Amino acid sequence: MTLLRPGTGDIPRPVPGPLSRPWWDGCAEGVLRFQRCEDCGAATHTPALMCASCASRRLEWTDSSGRGEIYSWTCVWRPVTPTMEVPYVPLIVTMEEGWWMLANLVGCQHDEVAIGLPVEVEFHRFDDGFVLPYFHLA
Ligand SMILES: [Zn+2]
Repeated sequence: MTLLRPGTGDIPRPVPGPLSRPWWDGCAEGVLRFQRCEDCGAATHTPALMCASCASRRLEWTDSSGRGEIYSWTCVWRPVTPTMEVPYVPLIVTMEEGWWMLANLVGCQHDEVAIGLPVEVEFHRFDDGFVLPYFHLA
């Protein structure tokens, strides 16, 4: 068995726009960022123009602790493209600040994953400078 590791192959590259640039800049700096509503306090991700809870447009970018717990997961054995190494384990993580994000698990075996386990973000820089967040078991 091999440890889960960052993706290889044809990982699509983002084209950051004004809305998503703070997220991708944060990843490049090794910081997870999310938006918090200045009116109701709700946390949100992915980048949005208005709060999903109260429709306010006053969303402020905030740094995350990078820690959370596994809400859900799956193990992929049939990849999206043949160049992607399997298995890989996408997670939905409930972050400490109350927002959710999707990223892959690395640094353990695919059968070590379970709902509720604590995880922490780590970042991987690819040869072209692209930086993607992953999670490892905490
Ligand atoms: Zn709100």
